[in-house]
Amino acid sequence: MQNDIALFSELCDILFEAEKHQPVAEPITTSQLYNQLNLSLNAEGTLDEDLKTTLKQIIKSTPKTASKSFFNQLFGGRIGKASLGDLLAVMLNNSMYTYKVAGPQVGIEKQVLKNICELAGYKKNSDGTFAPGGSMSNMMAMIMARDYENGSIGTHGLTRLMTIYTSKESHYSISKNAALIGIGRNQVRLVNTNQKGEMLANHLDLLVQKDINDGYEPFLVNATAGTTVLGAFDDIEAISKVCKKHKLWLHVDGAYCGGVIFSNNYKHLVKGLEHSDSFSVNAHKMLGTPLSCSIIITQHKAQLRQSFSNEAEYLYQTDGDDFNLGKTSMQCGRRNDALKIWTLWKSIGTNGLEKIVDKQFEMANIARAYIMKNDDYTLYSFDDSISVCFNYKDIPANELCTALYQNSELMVGFGKFNNQEFVRMVTINSVLEKEDILAFFETLEAFATKHMLKITTS
Ligand SMILES: *Cc1c(COP(=O)(O)O)cnc(C)c1O
Repeated sequence: MQNDIALFSELCDILFEAEKHQPVAEPITTSQLYNQLNLSLNAEGTLDEDLKTTLKQIIKSTPKTASKSFFNQLFGGRIGKASLGDLLAVMLNNSMYTYKVAGPQVGIEKQVLKNICELAGYKKNSDGTFAPGGSMSNMMAMIMARDYENGSIGTHGLTRLMTIYTSKESHYSISKNAALIGIGRNQVRLVNTNQKGEMLANHLDLLVQKDINDGYEPFLVNATAGTTVLGAFDDIEAISKVCKKHKLWLHVDGAYCGGVIFSNNYKHLVKGLEHSDSFSVNAHKMLGTPLSCSIIITQHKAQLRQSFSNEAEYLYQTDGDDFNLGKTSMQCGRRNDALKIWTLWKSIGTNGLEKIVDKQFEMANIARAYIMKNDDYTLYSFDDSISVCFNYKDIPANELCTALYQNSELMVGFGKFNNQEFVRMVTINSVLEKEDILAFFETLEAFATKHMLKITTS
């Protein structure tokens, strides 16, 4: 083991060098992948030296999400203390289902959940768990809402068509989960949004009323705190009033930007959160922990237990349910995702997490200001969003983003809203500073001038 730790440390140094000097790895086409890297698994093992060589090559070719050139997705960067916690979790290798095998790690998870509940404004009957990702957090919320509406479904199955409401801009996991848990994709109603991509509460009300009249059983509204493309925040307060009127479970999907609960400057974006029934947040997005670190909390502690507990005599042999976390989780054996957010939180405090969140908005503001003062750009996103959406000199966004990646310049993606396609630069990467934002535009402009503009003007 000592040798492997030494090798790990050596490989980390190689990774850090690569992040600095080749921040966007040269992409390997899928057809070349198995020719260029030795990925095969054979009857005989590999000598340590050969394994090391192969691992080095794999590291060099793997996309560098912690580099300063990564703007592609809703995560990125690396915060030392959070990585430390995750590495420790691997070495400790506990399963979070019982206090007997996880001990203080259970206390750590419960502490994180308790503090998140407080920040969300949830009352003392609240509880939560860590899910294997934001999509699964949404699924857990959907299952709780379904069972809360009708407690016999878990035993007997569905007997009526039940409907879910979510905005057109919400994450695809809502439809996928509806398919997975027997509700059916056809029973997901897509609510219209305003021109900023925020759900319209009056359209929601109309859709619910129509379904009631048509004999459906509405049970869940999903509001989004930070939509996946535009980073828009649904008006939770207005939506919660519709939910109250029709007695519907309100879930707030904060996978992307739910981290604003840490910021005194930005928590107004989730105003009314305390009226929701459940809330999910991915610490691996705004809070900068390694993947994955997905938290789902609810104000209905009993419902969490009813929906996810199952007797298992071979497993639950000591301690009370409150410390046997398998009684509230999706999985049986479950990795310790709590330690990484705890080590980070413990080391920098709630104020430090607030700074991390505020910094992302500051970076987005710098990017938007740059775009607005430059006539070659068109801006498509709005204030208070860390997804900065734009086009440059009318170059098709997908061509520009793909060319930047293929030429190892920048990793940035594109998105679409109201049929308009644009570059989506995400400023969530925790290593970014003002000069990195400006360098992004400089790189993009130089690249476009050299490689793209001839094509589009011909
Ligand atoms: C990222 C995201 C999810 C999915 O989270 P995963 O951890 O990737 O499964 C769900 N909802 C929204 C709004 C997201 O941005």
